[in-house]
This record gives sequence, C-alpha cells and structure tokens, in this order.
Amino acid sequence: MIRVVEIFGPTVQGEGALIGRPTVFVRTGGCDYRCTWCDTLYAVLPEHAASWRSLSADEIVEEVLALSGGTPILVSLSGGNPAMQKLGPLLAAGRARGLRFSLETQGSLPRDWFRDLDYLFLSPKPPSSGETPDWEIFQACLDSAAGVAISLKVTVFDAADYDFARALAARHPEFDLYLQVGNPSFPPETAPEPADLAGELMARYRWLVERLARDRWYAPTVLPQLHVLAWGNTPGH
Ligand code: SF4
Repeated sequence: MIRVVEIFGPTVQGEGALIGRPTVFVRTGGCDYRCTWCDTLYAVLPEHAASWRSLSADEIVEEVLALSGGTPILVSLSGGNPAMQKLGPLLAAGRARGLRFSLETQGSLPRDWFRDLDYLFLSPKPPSSGETPDWEIFQACLDSAAGVAISLKVTVFDAADYDFARALAARHPEFDLYLQVGNPSFPPETAPEPADLAGELMARYRWLVERLARDRWYAPTVLPQLHVLAWGNTPGH
C-alpha cells in the first residue's frame, strides 16, 4: 500500500522541465528531510499522518483516471519524498492504462524502480534548507535512473544557494539545470501579505536573472513557480 496525502488535478506542472504541462498530482506522505522552508509540511510531519490514506496502486490509477475523465495524462509524483514509497507497482499499473509518470525527489533514496519513470527531477537541497546532500547517494539515484529523462532543479533563496547551484552544474554539466525562485511564503515567519506574494516572487526572480547575467552563466533555465503566480498558495494546484 502507498501512503497518499492528496490526489488532485488536472492542473499544470508549475516547476521544472515540464512547466505548464497538464498533469494530475499524486502527493505521498513522509519525508526523510526537514527543510526550513518546506511548503508541504502536511505531507512530511508524522503528526499529519492520521489524515493520509493507504491506497493500492490500482486505486490510485482509478482516482487519477476519474480526475482526468478517463484520458491518459501525465502523473506528477510528489511529496514529501515519494522515493520513500514502493511505487514500482503503481508505475506498472499506470503504464498499462496509458499514464506517464514524473517524480521529484531530493536524491536521498535510490530506488531500482526509478528506471520505470518517464521523467526524474532531482532537486538536491541547498544550504538555506538546513539539509546537506550526500553526493554518493545522489549519484546512486542518478545511476538507478539510467535511460530516464533526468533533469536537476535547485531552489534558490539566497547567494549561498546560488553558489550551490553553480557547483552542482559544474559537477553535472550533462543534465539540464532548472533554477527556481524560493517561495516567499516559506518559512511562514517571514512571509509577505498574500496580496504581495506575486510581487515579492517576481522581485526575487529579477534578482536571480540579473545574477546569472552578471556572471555570464547562461546554461540554466530560470523559473518562478508558475502555480504560485496563478493561484498563490491555495492547495490543490
Ligand atoms: S525534501 Fe521537500 S518535502 Fe521534504 S522537507 Fe524538504 S522541501 Fe519538504
């Protein structure tokens, strides 16, 4: 059984290589990290586990197809850290019904079923998160997804995160790198008023774009969180 926090959509992917792509999200429960700016603590902290459901692979596939009106769609596996779950049977059951799967994880738990994904987004957490990646394990995640479309993503809140992203790019020039502006609403102690959220997000975006231009660093794709611009922090998007 798979611990599921929420299944929602269709909406669009708001981040990374598939930004703007119609998708249904399956958010799983539990995470081995505790990032300072986590925006999905309801899918991380054990005190929320009572509200999570235990679903079989077939039950998840049926819910996804009910939401999509029976039309095959991209499924975005998110969390928490979805690599904590045994998702191989879900990938097999979904593929048999025409679904495709992307998964985002920080790269802390290699899984042999990564090779059955269509897309893998590895997002090692930068210094502002308070977490420190284990690069040997991160490499093992890359190795376990041989043949899958892999891209890297770094959420950038500050200059130290930017330097972290540059070091990652130097280590792995073979993968596309996406830089994403940090959501100003997290951590909540420093959040702007909801009415100021989009303006603050785009101010951070301008800072990041200007930083790349100043450094003549043209390889990454730089993105805000599209779903935050469109819907703020409203759940379900
Ligand atoms: S890895 Fe992701 S889900 Fe886990 S604590 Fe960090 S931001 Fe939250």
